[in-house]
Amino acid sequence: MNGTGKGFSTRAIHIGHDPRESQGALNPPIYMSSTFTFDSAEAGGAMFSGEQPGHFYSRISNPTLDVLETRIADLEGAEAGLGTASGMGAITSTLWSLVQAGDEVIIDKTLYGCTFAFLTHGLPRFGVKVTLVDMTNPLNLAQVIGAQTKVVYFETPANPNNRLIDIAAVSEIAHKHGAKVVVDNTYATPVITRPIEHGADIVVHSATKFLSGHGDVIAGLVVGSAEEIANIRLVGVKDMTGAVMSPLTAMLLLRGIKTLDLRMARHCETAAKVADALQSHPAVLKVSYPGLAGFDQRALAERQMSKFGGMIPFEVVGGKPGGIAMMNRLNLIQRAVSLGDAESLIQHPASMTHSTYSPEERAAHGIGEGLVRLSVGLEDAGDIIDDLMEALGQHNSYAA
Ligand SMILES: *Cc1c(COP(=O)(O)O)cnc(C)c1O
Repeated sequence: MNGTGKGFSTRAIHIGHDPRESQGALNPPIYMSSTFTFDSAEAGGAMFSGEQPGHFYSRISNPTLDVLETRIADLEGAEAGLGTASGMGAITSTLWSLVQAGDEVIIDKTLYGCTFAFLTHGLPRFGVKVTLVDMTNPLNLAQVIGAQTKVVYFETPANPNNRLIDIAAVSEIAHKHGAKVVVDNTYATPVITRPIEHGADIVVHSATKFLSGHGDVIAGLVVGSAEEIANIRLVGVKDMTGAVMSPLTAMLLLRGIKTLDLRMARHCETAAKVADALQSHPAVLKVSYPGLAGFDQRALAERQMSKFGGMIPFEVVGGKPGGIAMMNRLNLIQRAVSLGDAESLIQHPASMTHSTYSPEERAAHGIGEGLVRLSVGLEDAGDIIDDLMEALGQHNSYAA
């Protein structure tokens, strides 16, 4: 296969596509076809029974998605991949495939708001027990995990507060009890952390974010063992959610992933400068960026992350009204949810992405009412910093 065994950027550009198999086309063709014809009725039957490989219906597989799925699996160091209609499609399809009534899922306390809603309000309606623990200390997991536990689920860094979870330590505890470890790697991307290499079983992504990088798609991805991915494809996506990715979306993701390494380097480099500038501003109370020397989990950040990401949660003086007023004074940075785009984006988790938590839950889960979440874009660092400094009430022309 083109690019096999080469560096990350090379693989992100080449894996899974050989132009010679597509009339020399540099980019894989977009197969906008719902169905695929059979040479004979017998051949169709053989495909349906799994005796013969091949595409027969795009809710199950599609040649354009094949390229993307092969590529993301390679970049994550996994055997197989699967495209889905959204990050929530990836998460729900995975969990519907792994659990049944009577099983338990143990989750970390900080999760993306809709994931939290699905797990704490959705799954329990179907007889699945969901237990919350603070996994920043893996011993908390060891204390509650049992024979009923089928899945241990977390994000690292977590949305929105950048809490980190030790993937290797949690995986060791989970595996001792026969539970599968599912990690949402949306924030780090495989450029920064590859959870499978640390012992995780399945990785899910909101590919809407850094993997796409251009704010033009809603998409999800899952990677894991070939057996696990076949199960999620045939049970989760095919029968339970139908959360299928369009071939056109697959093409846009393949395009985004070609520059992932380059973009992440810039997101991280600029975020480090922005975090530094925010931290030294008197109107900023706390900045939670893993690259800062004073970050709470600095040792784990250095052990588990090759760079420190493009996301900066911070709190300004004046709590929620102070944060909202600062957001409303920004000119360059856009007020919007989502993250990982070329444009810097800012939002207020308590009233937006994490409004699915009750105020009590937010307080208990480390999501402050005054917290604002900045996704550092690809604009010039000096311009991003100037915009923040002006909004914070003190112009500071920063030469970056
Ligand atoms: C956005 C996000 C999701 C949900 O993804 P969608 O593509 O919006 O469905 C899940 N997890 C994390 C960490 C996210 O940031």
